[in-house]
Formats: sequence, C-alpha cells, structure tokens
Amino acid sequence: MLKLSNTTLTFHLPLMPDETLYSWLGRCAYGKGYPSLRAAMQVLLGSEHKQLSSLFCNVVPELSKLTLINRCVLIEDHTILPIFRSFITDGLYQAAQTAMLSGETDGLSKLLSTTANRMKLNPPLRYCPHCSALDEIKFGFPYWRVEHQLPGVYLCLKHQQTLQEVDVARRDLVMPGCITSDAETIPVELQKLAQFSLGARHQPLSHFDHHRYQNCIRERLRQKEYVTASGRVRQSKWQQSFLTFWQPLLHITEISDLLQNEAGLYIQSFCYDESKTLSPLKHFLLLAHLFESWNSFTAFYAQFDSVPVKTESASVKACSIQVSEYKPEQHGSLRSFARRLNCSVITAKKLALQQGVQIDRRPQTLFGAERDLITQLLSDGLSTAKIASKMLCSIAAVEQILAQNPDIVQQRRERRVSVTRQKHRDAIKKLLTIKSTWRRTDVQKAARTAYTWLYKNDSEWLYQQLPAETPREQRWLH
Ligand SMILES: [Zn+2]
Repeated sequence: MLKLSNTTLTFHLPLMPDETLYSWLGRCAYGKGYPSLRAAMQVLLGSEHKQLSSLFCNVVPELSKLTLINRCVLIEDHTILPIFRSFITDGLYQAAQTAMLSGETDGLSKLLSTTANRMKLNPPLRYCPHCSALDEIKFGFPYWRVEHQLPGVYLCLKHQQTLQEVDVARRDLVMPGCITSDAETIPVELQKLAQFSLGARHQPLSHFDHHRYQNCIRERLRQKEYVTASGRVRQSKWQQSFLTFWQPLLHITEISDLLQNEAGLYIQSFCYDESKTLSPLKHFLLLAHLFESWNSFTAFYAQFDSVPVKTESASVKACSIQVSEYKPEQHGSLRSFARRLNCSVITAKKLALQQGVQIDRRPQTLFGAERDLITQLLSDGLSTAKIASKMLCSIAAVEQILAQNPDIVQQRRERRVSVTRQKHRDAIKKLLTIKSTWRRTDVQKAARTAYTWLYKNDSEWLYQQLPAETPREQRWLH
C-alpha cells in the first residue's frame, strides 16, 4: 500500500496574484476535503492555534514550506506589511519583517504601535463583489486580495464599487461572497484615500526619516497658509479644515474612530512629537488632505533633506538677503557659508535657487563605476564625509549607497566596535602594568570609561585581566 509521508502532503496550489495568505489557506482547507477546519490546520500548519485572520499572520514559515515560495516574497507580495514601509524607518521595517519571517509576530503590534493607533489586529476582511464574480468565472473560485485589505482602501478602484466587509473570528477561515450593493455615489474622498494607499504600496517612500517628513509637511502647511509668519502652525485652523474634509467618510468606523471625540487630534502632536509612530491610515488621512496625489506628495518630499529646517522666520529672511550675495569662489562651499549664516544648507540652497544665485551643485545621482568605487571605500572603512569630498558628491549620496549595503553597514559597525575595544583594552592594560597591587575598584576609578565599556561589552576579557576580588571580610581594611 502506498504510504503517505509528510512530503507528499505538500500542496502546490498556486497563490493567486495579490492573494492574501489567509485566502490561500482557506482555499486549501476547504478545497481538499478535510473533515474539519481544525484537522486542516493541524495538517497544513502543524497546529490549530495559529492567528489566521490577523493583519500579521504568524504562518509565513509554514506557508513558505507548503507553497515553495520564498518567505520574503510571501510577505512583500501577499501581506499588507509593505504599506508600513513608507512611514517607518528602515530598521523598524526590517525588525517587523524579521518577526514575520520567523512567525514570531506577537511583538509586532508594539513595534508598529498599532494599538496606540486604534488599529484592529483582526479587522473585517473586504472584497469587491465584481472582482469576486469575475474570479468565480475565470478561476472557479473567488479569493481575498491584499489590495482590498490595505488601510484606507474601502473601494475597488477598478470597478468603482464599495468593498463589502466580513467580520472574521481569529481562527476562522471564510471566503469572499458575491453580494452586490445597490448603485451608489462614491464620495471623491473615498477614491482619493484609496489612491494614496495604493500609491504607497506601489511606490513607497524609501529610507523614511521623521525629521525629513516633518519638514516636508510643515512646508506644505506653510504653502496652504496653516502657518503663521512667526512659524507657528495654526493648529485649530488646520484641524478644522482636516475634519471638514473627511466629513463625508465618517460613516466608515475606522475613520470615525480616528476622527471623532479626542481624535483628529493626532495631527496636533504631529509637528512636535518625534517618537510617535502613526498608523498608515493616519498618514493617508493627513496627506490626502494636504496633497493632490501620492505622487505629488513624494515629489514634494524628495526636495527635503534629513536635516531639520527652520521654517520661514526673521532669521531666514536675514539669510535670504545674505545668500543673494553668495559667490562660490569668494565664500567657499555653500555648506560652510550656510554654517556662518547659522542656517541649514538646505535652506541656503533653497534660497539661492529661488533667487537665481549660482551655486555649485554636486551630483546627487551616481552611476556604475563611481558607485562601485564608493562601495569599496565604504567597505574599507573611510568616513562618509571623506568619501563625499574625494568623489565630489554629496554626503547624502554616499549614505544612500551605504544604506543599500546592509552587510557593509554591519562590517563598519564591527570595525568601529573593534577599534573602541582595542582602545579600552589598551587603557586597562597600561594601568595594570603601572601598578600590579591595584584592586578592582582602583582600576575602575582610574579608567572609568574604559572599565564601563568593557564591563558592558567585553566582560570576559576584563575579568581575566583584573586582579582577584578582595575577599569580603577584608574589604573594610582598605
Ligand atoms: Zn473590483
């Protein structure tokens, strides 16, 4: 008799384009004739206790084995995690990705501040009845699409159809239906919000930087006259206009939860609080109120650097007058000139361009051989500033190349640690050769910085060098 081994149970049901992992599991569980959902989960995932419908489902490792699809591809193409990419730092995104790769997703809500942002971890699932009906005809079954589960997407842009919502229990598997609603008028705000979300999915911001983002928004607020002449944001005017703008969408619970009562008010703290991670939906509401489209926002954002820019103020006006007199041959680099004026180089550059002053613009885009050389220099451990001056490009351009090479970042970090370790080890060794009768506390007092660093990072070596501990009963003698 043919014996079924575990490997023969591997499923090769293909994932559909843009299909959620939840959806694929549902199709497997229902399509393969298991006696119950629990039995299906036991066979497919090795456990009945997986969070199937969670935004951050913890089944990526198992699904990768079953589908033979790389885990990163599963996350990037079949979950909503990538929508966070535009609004969190690279480090945070990588941490979130690692959590999903390993199936250890418990810490994700804290990492991405979903609870603080009133984001449900098991939101209702959404489908477009038209898409479902077409899928049924084309493939023989409807399925859940990632696109329809994205924050801010309550509409199928293809069919101009409001999405239907289905509440789902945490460990339940349901498939989309084909219920259509009556013809309706779609508010333009609903379209705009969905377009921002899809824009962020297909063209995410790279290397999100909070300062840069804040500068960009403040400048936009200034253009829209939400900032006073002294640079203060007119909070209540902005908030009022923001709430009025989103009024037509208050029937959507997720939006009304954010905007009613004390809400809306996240925009108040936005300009001041740097540590807060806002949910993608909060960002989309904020951005779609201020910009025409996701692309117009990203183009505007691209003009800003990661350095904080002071808003237009008396001091900027003073700078403006002086920048108009800037001459590279006389004043040196714009960076050093800006430093003398006590304004940022970005402000100086902006003012210079506005006034048609000639400035020496270093290339921001580098190609082929130059990039390779910079990569090599980075790998050799040269500082980014030195490389920039050697290659006649901006520091930001070098940093960009560095950020694209995480292994070099790691290598540079290790090198720095190694140099620091050697420096501190030398300091301790030197002390001990001077006087061998020293007790541990004497060494600690004489070289506190080195001692503390080694204690934290290299304690094994430190204890090998140090004299033996003074016996407890003799400590009072000293
Ligand atoms: Zn549709």
